[in-house]
Amino acid sequence: MDYPGNLFVVAAPSGAGKSSLVKALLELDSRVQPSVSHTTRPPRGQEKHGREYYFVSTQEFDTMVLADAFVEWAHVHGQRYGTSKKAIEERIAQGSDVILEIDFQGALQIKRIFANAVLVFILPPSWEELRSRLERRGEDAPEVIELRLANAAKEMAQVGEFDFVIINELFERALFDLKAIVHAQRLKVSAQRRARADTFKALNII
Ligand code: GDP
Ligand code: ADP
Ligand code: 5GP
Repeated sequence: MDYPGNLFVVAAPSGAGKSSLVKALLELDSRVQPSVSHTTRPPRGQEKHGREYYFVSTQEFDTMVLADAFVEWAHVHGQRYGTSKKAIEERIAQGSDVILEIDFQGALQIKRIFANAVLVFILPPSWEELRSRLERRGEDAPEVIELRLANAAKEMAQVGEFDFVIINELFERALFDLKAIVHAQRLKVSAQRRARADTFKALNII
């Protein structure tokens, strides 16, 4: 499937800093639009329906699956998460860059549909730091944290399927790396041909 904007997919084990990095990127770069996923997990403290996620019941999720409303969906940490077609199609059609924060199974599904999607994996600097970030965040019950840590090893084993990897040790450095990836995509010849069509035309480049 072809589209005018870039599609970025960010995956990471829970607690690696994916949401913080994506949030910071969105604040700095208005040309990137988030895809808001549907999930069956309950909202955390500050999360708002329609902002971080659309929080739905398992029945509502099932109905959407049957209606073929998702581009991809997956079971993650005992819950279900999915990217609706609606969440990305409009934005892609407008030519915006769209960023998806999804798990590795979803990322690989997206790559099969959108071959040009750019897959970015975020790693924590160590196991100790991953655990302490999940504990410091203080949003998940202890058994949920243990489940997320148990799943982290098999998630991280998928890093070879991704195009880029960022190690989120110093936050500002990791954010710089993420911005560099976004910037580099915009300098691709195909992207520049679209974005700078007038210049290409004036230079008689076909
Ligand atoms: P977090 O990992 O601590 O940010 O916790 P969340 O509960 O927000 O997300 C849990 C997992 O589900 C993460 O790996 C997310 O990337 C993944 N996820 C979120 N939305 C989607 C989605 O639409 N599709 C898929 N496949 N995974 C998703
Ligand atoms: P994810 O979305 O991958 O689960 P979060 O973005 O929620 O991760 O980050 C997990 C916790 O770690 C948050 O409390 C966040 O503020 C913190 N964090 C993120 N990046 C860093 C970093 N580079 N150094 C220290 N703490 C960080
Ligand atoms: P939250 O904790 O709500 O995920 O993040 C709040 C804000 O602080 C975000 O905009 C994010 O950019 C920033 N942030 C989160 N963790 C860190 C960190 O470890 N270092 C720095 N410099 N900023 C952070």
